[in-house]
Amino acid sequence: MCAVATELSPCPMLIDGDWIDSKEIDRVPVQNPSTGEVLSEMPMGGKAEIEAAVAAAKEAFPGWSQTPPVERARLFYRYRSLLEENFDSIAELITREHGKTLGESRGGLYRGLENVEYACGIPTLLFGDTIENLAAGIDCETFFEPLGVCAGITPFNFPAMVPMWMFPLALACGNTFVFKPSEMVPLSSIRIIELLVEAGLPKGVLNLVHGAVETVDAILEHPDIKAVSFVGSTPVAKYIYETGTRHGKRVQANGSAKNYTIVMPDADINKSVEGITGGAFGCAGERCMASSTTIPVGEAAKELIPTLKVATKSVKIGPTDRMPQPDLGPVISSKHRDRVNSLIASGEVEGAKILSDGRSVKVPEAPNGYYVGATLVDGVEQEMTLNREEVFGPVLNVMRADNLEAALEIANGSSFGNGTAIYTESGKLAREFKHRVKTGMVGINVAVPASMAMFPFAGWNASFFGDLHVQGKEGVAFYTQQKVITSRWFAQGEGDVWKQ
Ligand code: NAD
Repeated sequence: MCAVATELSPCPMLIDGDWIDSKEIDRVPVQNPSTGEVLSEMPMGGKAEIEAAVAAAKEAFPGWSQTPPVERARLFYRYRSLLEENFDSIAELITREHGKTLGESRGGLYRGLENVEYACGIPTLLFGDTIENLAAGIDCETFFEPLGVCAGITPFNFPAMVPMWMFPLALACGNTFVFKPSEMVPLSSIRIIELLVEAGLPKGVLNLVHGAVETVDAILEHPDIKAVSFVGSTPVAKYIYETGTRHGKRVQANGSAKNYTIVMPDADINKSVEGITGGAFGCAGERCMASSTTIPVGEAAKELIPTLKVATKSVKIGPTDRMPQPDLGPVISSKHRDRVNSLIASGEVEGAKILSDGRSVKVPEAPNGYYVGATLVDGVEQEMTLNREEVFGPVLNVMRADNLEAALEIANGSSFGNGTAIYTESGKLAREFKHRVKTGMVGINVAVPASMAMFPFAGWNASFFGDLHVQGKEGVAFYTQQKVITSRWFAQGEGDVWKQ
């Protein structure tokens, strides 16, 4: 639990520089998925709290946007040091409220930290273009200016990393911010914001609110919020995009996914299996870039499928809140465990073959946790529910294909478009693949090609709604508006053609 949370309330909000408790009585439990234990209670905040948060952010905007970028960057250098100093305890907190292993929590936090490092480069990231003498005696230059109050709404699966896709760059660009974390994992978010305050965040520049649908709607409708960054499931992403843009906001909304890994007959099978199982079962499959489907091409199936079966059966499951650490932790909630189990059952009903079944897994040392064992399903077809829906659990589908053409047809036929990867030793095939695949993030002998901070997290189709993605130069463009200045200076009397 973070220091501020024990002193004031289980889940305080940060409004105008003060940590305060919500007035809302309606609260939801925050649980440790490894054990089912209730860690805290989260207030389902309301409209009045959004009003206060936006008013504080609006008031802070003139001062913060006029703070020179080098000074804004210094806040993030100090923040980076504090995150490093507290790295292990934040990772432990993520593990406790989310359930992923400590190694996975550390990995996600590192990806988040890289976004803070990227934001430290803001003085150069905000460089515009200039040209002298564009026309006779006329110079032209561009500036990137902040938008005003921006908001971020985040999912449960990366409690620190996804928020860090948003607020460091938004603030570094000179905006102020209202942040609403997932109601399932608010504790890590509170902790990382507590450290931002310790780094010297001026009051009102970032405000942290809690809640779910009502809070989100208040954000989407608020006339003083200029831009909304959202990450979560596709139906909500689509709703956020449509509602936010209808209210005149700039919106970037990342949605769900279904990611494919094609394995060619010439691929190194051990490397493929290592990548695919890590990608499918890592973070209990609760990753938008999870390698949830593998497509062995032709002869590749012969060796790949039995090796995948052995690897799947060897995945050790258990509670992640203690030592020794398992390979696989719980999923986020009992409701989600039941959904994952019912999707596995749908595969059985629709004619797929379950080679390794995680539904009946027992974890005697933590009988009240939310566990699904690593699951391998062969013979999945395009129209099956297991292929059409994001499972978001430790379930790996196998869809066989005769050649690269057929494999691409499966992958490109998805309604989503986050990531597709290929394992091959052939540069020629890899080249053909990367040109023909229709997805935003492409891996060649990399099962989880999730973009790092300097590159956009570039989902396509129903995995993304908007124009400018999170992270990298697109992130800077999203959080700024361009101004083009055309100037001409005259000596006294120069060029006068009209005189009274
Ligand atoms: P979710 O859509 O249920 O919730 C995300 C956020 O939206 C939360 O803050 C929640 O409070 C809010 N919310 C939920 N329902 C809402 C509604 N009806 N109206 C308004 N707001 C609502 O997602 P989740 O279960 O927390 O996260 C998992 C999903 O996020 C998966 O689908 C995963 O693929 C996706 N995800 C996508 C990316 C990406 O970059 N594409 C990254 C991480 C997670």
